Amino acid sequence: MRVGSTDPVATAACAELAETAGPDPEARTPGRCEDCEALGEQNWAHLRMCLSCGHVGCCDSSPHRHATAHFEQTGHPVMRSHEPGESWRWCYRHAEMG
Ligand SMILES: [Zn+2]
Ligand SMILES: [Zn+2]
Ligand SMILES: [Zn+2]
Repeated sequence: MRVGSTDPVATAACAELAETAGPDPEARTPGRCEDCEALGEQNWAHLRMCLSCGHVGCCDSSPHRHATAHFEQTGHPVMRSHEPGESWRWCYRHAEMG
């Protein structure tokens, strides 16, 4: 049961997205997945960048899913698209876009 459901939505529910609203860190491997590069893998679908440390990893449509693996290993919660023209961000902890 929820009380006070007339509140104007849960915009501030995700602290991680609010905390990473500032300037982005510099990408460690611009345009490349850092972990695929280490493996010699050159096939990935899209790239995501960690907003805690600038790690660039491949998305979940890629064979190795390094962006998600990075979150699981480090706990860094927010990444953003590293694709040209895309600026959306994603909080893994809340599965929320910002
Ligand atoms: Zn969050
Ligand atoms: Zn990768
Ligand atoms: Zn990171």
